[in-house]
Amino acid sequence: MGRIRLFLVFVLVSLFAPRAEPAQVADQSVVLTPREVVAGSPELISVRAAADSVDGEWLGHKIRFFQSSDHRSWIALAGADVEAPSGPSHISITLHTRDRGNVDISETIEIHPAHYRTGTLTVAPQFVQPPPEALKEIEEESKLKAKVFAASASDPLWHSSFHAPVPAQATDSFGTRRMFNGKLASIHKGADFHAATGTPVHASNSGVVVLARHLYFEGNCVIIDHGLGLYTLSMHFSRIDVQEGQHVNAGDRLGLSGATGRVTGPHLHWAVRWQGAYLDPVKLLKLDLNSVR
Ligand SMILES: [Zn+2]
Repeated sequence: MGRIRLFLVFVLVSLFAPRAEPAQVADQSVVLTPREVVAGSPELISVRAAADSVDGEWLGHKIRFFQSSDHRSWIALAGADVEAPSGPSHISITLHTRDRGNVDISETIEIHPAHYRTGTLTVAPQFVQPPPEALKEIEEESKLKAKVFAASASDPLWHSSFHAPVPAQATDSFGTRRMFNGKLASIHKGADFHAATGTPVHASNSGVVVLARHLYFEGNCVIIDHGLGLYTLSMHFSRIDVQEGQHVNAGDRLGLSGATGRVTGPHLHWAVRWQGAYLDPVKLLKLDLNSVR
């Protein structure tokens, strides 16, 4: 009798006990910050999982993960391009493990519509229709930029949160669809900061200066590689104070703001580029990265 009762208890417990999840599913999580993804959002992707390495792909861009400073998570700084279509997107993430092989933890990420404005601008005519003698220069500069953007450091070079390059609020200008002189349409892929000519511009985070020279549209331009495909670009300087190849830390002076290149007046144009995608610089400044790295 005792044995039968014991057997019944065992059967009942087996029937009603919650089915144990396989350990690897329960232990993994993917968190995106900010949680609401829109076209132009930089996203801190945090994967909590035991793995030897992690990689992924999102919207055609390769995601490269590194370990957080507490070694508990795999981290990537990524984002959805300013022109990314809204709707569901597939983010593929693969854990490479010794004991379980490759584990796919892909997810569907909803990209919400961003409501960017439309504006008009009037600039000098040679920047809308560059004269024939400038075309060669523009072509060479575009090759140079492509080379720079193809050779990002294989480790993250940034530390802690990003800081504003000038002590001013950015104007609400990222993503604006712009008509130049009523003709050429373009999307504003950076944030404009009010800055009188001569305002010191600082590195927003640590990295390597990979371009520091005059370009046709950008004027005096400084590009910093922060590693793993992440760059910040500062344009229209009146003077450049850094050299290509130089390592900089957050707060180091890059130069003085100005009005060189395609501009309507003195200001700082500051852009964030990740793996070819342009992200909202103001949102990057708001990301708390202090505990990450
Ligand atoms: Zn601008």
